[in-house]
Amino acid sequence: MNSSEFRRRGKEMVDYVANYMEGIESRQVYPDVEPGYLRPLIPATAPQEPDTFEDIINDIEKIIMPGVTHWHSPYFFAYFPTASSYPAMLADMLCGAIGCIGFSWAASPACTELETVMMDWLGKMLQLPEAFLAGNQGKGGGVIQGSASEATLVALLAARTKVTRRLQAASPELTPAAIMEKLVAYASDQAHSSVERAGLIGGVKLKAIPSDGNYAMCASALQEAVQKDKAAGLIPFFVVATLGTTSCCSFDNLLEVGPLCNKEDMWLHIDAAYAGSAFICPEFRPLLHGVEFADSFNFNPHKWLLVNFDCSAMWVKNRTDLTGAFKMDPVYLKHSHQDSGLITDYRHWQLPLGRRFRSLKMWFVFRMYGVKGLQAYIRKHVQLSHEFESLVSQDPRFEICAQVVLGLVCFRLKGSNKLNEALLQRINSAKKIHLVPCHLRDKFVLRFAICSRTVESSHVQLAWEHIRELAAAVLSAERE
Ligand SMILES: *Cc1c(COP(=O)(O)O)cnc(C)c1O
Repeated sequence: MNSSEFRRRGKEMVDYVANYMEGIESRQVYPDVEPGYLRPLIPATAPQEPDTFEDIINDIEKIIMPGVTHWHSPYFFAYFPTASSYPAMLADMLCGAIGCIGFSWAASPACTELETVMMDWLGKMLQLPEAFLAGNQGKGGGVIQGSASEATLVALLAARTKVTRRLQAASPELTPAAIMEKLVAYASDQAHSSVERAGLIGGVKLKAIPSDGNYAMCASALQEAVQKDKAAGLIPFFVVATLGTTSCCSFDNLLEVGPLCNKEDMWLHIDAAYAGSAFICPEFRPLLHGVEFADSFNFNPHKWLLVNFDCSAMWVKNRTDLTGAFKMDPVYLKHSHQDSGLITDYRHWQLPLGRRFRSLKMWFVFRMYGVKGLQAYIRKHVQLSHEFESLVSQDPRFEICAQVVLGLVCFRLKGSNKLNEALLQRINSAKKIHLVPCHLRDKFVLRFAICSRTVESSHVQLAWEHIRELAAAVLSAERE
């Protein structure tokens, strides 16, 4: 493909994308295909001679689209939102064109410097404490990770190194292996599975702290576990607090847990993967109170802030906690500015070496929406979830299962888990809307998450009518 064909095909692709987004509502939100559907539709090996662009484009509707779950359909209410906006898509295209691998400042200065400044912009939008910002000579700063899971793992590994060095400095006879087997980390029993996974990958014990009646981790439960473990000779070193849990969007009690972590010298990491975007609105910012006690904080603009995947924003108070833990300087990656103290080599802040120019997406989105546009977007979603909550509350057959704070409503039919499983099964096989469930304690619960950028009150109303009809069918089937 030469540049004149690229111009033509590029414009066609933009039309295809715009048509897809405009027409997405009329596509079935969840596909009909069975596992293995795709292999028989395409050749078993790559073509020896080139195919044409037309051939490929024609295959998209034939082969790909039948197997796509339309995450941006206004009838998609599953999981959590994943961001999609035109400015981010255009920036992604430019990112692909520049195609740099920004592991160090020298590898592409704009890639590093825009990221540092965008993370400061975003930190200021959230009113993060000054200590997390890079500024001109701050000790903290932000980095874009690929996912919240990666951010949690990076924080855990950095904390592991930090505590190991601290203990070795005090008792040089201790080996890292002897320390590691005693390390213990904590998170609420409502924390995301990626937290447990970080413990597994990091090779440390991770204990689940029983959450309270609001599905929140409070200090007394954490304190109890820490005391017990210390008495047993273990070394508590790391705590993950969740703001906006995946099951029901509950919030750990940061104002209690934070001071305890500081007192016990435990690294506090905050996982606000979904909810973090809402903190740009002054009315939701109080949910972040206590962030000042944290060592690291993370949320996903790629969930709810219109920056397409991947873009997970992570800040640390002490950048040296990361760079000190992971630094490697082979001669082929060295450059003449690196010891000047003025520049950032993001490869020391993350697991991979290579990294894309993802901050372009933030730059385009923040400028084209403005903070006000982004706030309006968050508010609209929260308003729609309250609208759904009020519809559910008006129907005596249903119950709301957790407080609705942001864009997620947890609800169920009053009755057995079996009844609710049957309802969800009907909903997801009708494929008019798409939902996923969760467990809250021993209850099977349906989650209704406001997801699409284009979802309106009319879609929420239609979804509710549909759920009511299926509920009536499930209830009458039960009576028979
Ligand atoms: C979605 C979510 C995650 C996982 O996010 P990834 O970026 O996909 O790793 C982690 N924690 C919480 C609370 C989440 O909602």
